[in-house]
Formats: sequence, structure tokens, C-alpha cells
Amino acid sequence: MSPSPSEPRHGIVIGGSLGGLFAGAMLRQAGWTVDLYERSPHDLDSRGGGIVLQPEVVEVLRRIGIQVGRMDLGVQSRNRSVFRPDGMIESRQFAPQTQTSWSLIYTTMLQAFGQDHYHRGKTLVDVRQHETRNSVTARFADGTEVSGDLLIGADGNGSTVRRLLWPDAEPTYAGYLAWRGLLPETAMPASARAELHGDFGFANTDGSHILGYLVPGDQNDTRAGHRLYNWVWYRVVDEVALRDVMTDIDGRDRGFSMPEGKLAPKWRRHVGQEADALLPPAFRDAVKATEQPFAQAIRDLAIDRMVKGRVILLGDAAFIPRPHTAASTSKAAANALALADALAGNPDDIDRALAQWEPAQLALGRHLHRQGTRAGDHLLFHRPTGARVG
Ligand SMILES: Cc1cc2nc3c(=O)[nH]c(=O)nc-3n(C[C@H](O)[C@H](O)[C@H](O)COP(=O)(O)OP(=O)(O)OC[C@H]3O[C@@H](n4cnc5c(N)ncnc54)[C@H](O)[C@@H]3O)c2cc1C
Repeated sequence: MSPSPSEPRHGIVIGGSLGGLFAGAMLRQAGWTVDLYERSPHDLDSRGGGIVLQPEVVEVLRRIGIQVGRMDLGVQSRNRSVFRPDGMIESRQFAPQTQTSWSLIYTTMLQAFGQDHYHRGKTLVDVRQHETRNSVTARFADGTEVSGDLLIGADGNGSTVRRLLWPDAEPTYAGYLAWRGLLPETAMPASARAELHGDFGFANTDGSHILGYLVPGDQNDTRAGHRLYNWVWYRVVDEVALRDVMTDIDGRDRGFSMPEGKLAPKWRRHVGQEADALLPPAFRDAVKATEQPFAQAIRDLAIDRMVKGRVILLGDAAFIPRPHTAASTSKAAANALALADALAGNPDDIDRALAQWEPAQLALGRHLHRQGTRAGDHLLFHRPTGARVG
């Protein structure tokens, strides 16, 4: 028998990164009890890779009671500056924008969610749905099981929930990667400091697109002198070379993401050589001054449905928009906000809530997928609009 609306519903969230924390926190706001399961046994860590702060993320923070007006949520850039390969400025436009970091949002959300219902070292391996009881059971690698009214797959681009219930949906390589780097602002070479510091900078040439901005530094420090310069450099790389890039310093295959400190020396040298050949001086110097560049393959994913019975997918598990949209994190936040609203609006009918939630979330994912594909293919391949990925 279904519980009466007065009994709290129980949500199981798989994945304890931003999508999982947004969903867990928003479900609680809708009156649910929530347990969140993350496969990593430790706190997650990214040393502050940058993300553009979007309104949906601010709205989640506001709804969980964070005084967003009183907190430094990031670093404001002033101008958007575009450089030619020779270093001349192509355009410079006053366009203030706030850049934050993954770790600032993660630590803020984790602190708000608390530790009691955040379970580490729990790797989901199976999901069973019980139609007659309207419930769902998750099984973990350690043999334990939990049941609830709804299971939320927020387990990212390599989602196990998706693999189990949407076996045909697999991300595909977009044909390019992002070299990335974080450099203390105090270590920016003179040219980079003069041209790039404090602005959102861009430079584009054939098969190469770079951008950079300041983000909070260690311990989410937003004070001048303590911040990091975050650059992201997209380069066309074929799949054979990609496999080599993703083989780390110890010979281990890292899949689609190479963390700081693990890139093989030959690829570190390669980044420096390419910077000499392709980048305007300020970006070239910033890239070459970065001690430990890291890398991420750009992949595409768009699914047809986000709901199967009492299992849903959100965040990167459902759609991976290209990073040019600056929307992966805000999309996860939008998914979670809309889910909480739909559930709160249908307290005694979860299935109706999910049926109301899904169409707009699919539309958002498809829109970002199309927009990101178009932007990325134009920037990297100069292909006509939308010609590459369907
Ligand atoms: C450590 C880390 C650092 C990141 N840093 C940045 C950054 O600097 N800039 C940026 O733009 N984006 C970053 N991202 C990606 C960013 O969080 C996402 O693109 C976006 O916010 C959507 O998040 P998500 O929660 O849907 O997916 P993800 O952030 O990918 O999170 C998925 C989570 O699910 C967990 N998981 C996967 N499989 C299982 C399983 N079977 N059982 C239990 N748990 C599982 C993973 O360990 C992970 O924590 C980072 C992600 C992580 C995990």
C-alpha cells in the first residue's frame, strides 16, 4: 500500500556531486526524507575548477537558506576580451559576470546537506522496481540494499543507473578535448597579468579555442591575491591520440578525464609546444606557466526519457551539454528545482508529479545539447550549424 501523504516519502539519490546534492537538498525542501549514496569513500575534490555561476544554482542556495547576498559566491570578471592569434585585441566589451568554482558550490551544498544522510563508499550496482508496491530498491557493491519511493540517478556521465535502465544510451566522443589549468594569480606571467587578469578572455584559431577567467582559490578564497586563473583550451584530437592522453603517468587508463598531477610528461610537453605554435602571447604564457595541466574529453549525450517508473535521471547522467553552454551545473540545479516543485505540487501522486516534471526537463536538455553542439562544432571544426551530432 502506498504511504499516505502525511507520511514522509523517501528518496534515494545515487551520486554525491553537485547534481545529487541539489536533488537531495530540494527533495528535503519538498518534505521528503533523503539518503544520498556516493561511490567515493572520501570527500570529492577538484581543486577549484571553474564554473560560470548561473541563476539556477543561486536559487538552490537561496531555497536552502543560504544568505546569497552576504556570501562571496565567486569572482566577478569585468570585460569579455577576444584576442587574435598575434595578440591584438579583436573585441573588448564590458560584461560583468561571476565565475565560481566546483569546490565552492560542492562544499557549500555538502555543509548544508550534512553528513548524517550522505553515505560514502557506496557504489550502486543494481536497481529493482516493485510496481505493485510503487517502490524501488538499490543494491550496492558491498551487498547492502535500500528501498524508497523514488530513486534519482545523479551519477554523472558514466551513470550506472542509466546503464541499467537505459542500456542503449551511451555518451559519444565529440572529437576534441579540453586541456585545463589552474594557476595562482600571483604566478601569472607579466603578459598574462596585463592582458587577461580580471577579464573573461577568449582566443580562437583553426581547431583551437581557449578561454580563461579568475576563480576562487584554495579553501574557496575569493580575496585578491589568493585566487586562481582558470583556463580551458579546446583542441581537436583524434580517438587514438585521446586514448594516449588519457593514459596517465603510471600507465593507468583514466577514461575521459585526466586529473591534475597525472598527465604523462610527453603530453605536458606537447601542451607547451602547442601553446607556442597556436596561442596569442598572453594565453601562451599563462598555459606555459601552469605546472600541472589536466584534461577532459568532450562528450555528447542526450536521452529520450528521464523517467522510468520510480527511477529518474538528472544532471550529466541524462544530458551532457558541451561546456560552451556553461550549463552542466545549472541544468542539474534546474532539474532538481523543478522536481521539488512537481513533487510538492502533487503530494499524493508521485507518478503524476514525474509526468509533469519530465517534458520541460527533456526540452531543456535537448535545447542545451543542440546549442552546445552547434557552438562547439563551429568553434572547433567550422562546420555548418548542427552538422555533426544528431
Ligand atoms: C570531483 C569532481 C570535480 C568536478 N569539477 C568540475 C569543475 O571543476 N568544473 C566543471 O565545470 N565541472 C566539474 N565537475 C562536473 C560537474 O559536477 C558536472 O558537470 C555537473 O555539475 C553535473 O553534475 P552531476 O552531479 O550530474 O555529475 P558529476 O559531477 O559527474 O557527479 C556524479 C557523481 O556520481 C558518483 N557516482 C558515479 N557512479 C556511481 C555509482 N555507481 N554509485 C554511486 N555513486 C556514483 C560519482 O563519483 C560522482 O560523484 C566535477 C565533477 C566531479 C565528480
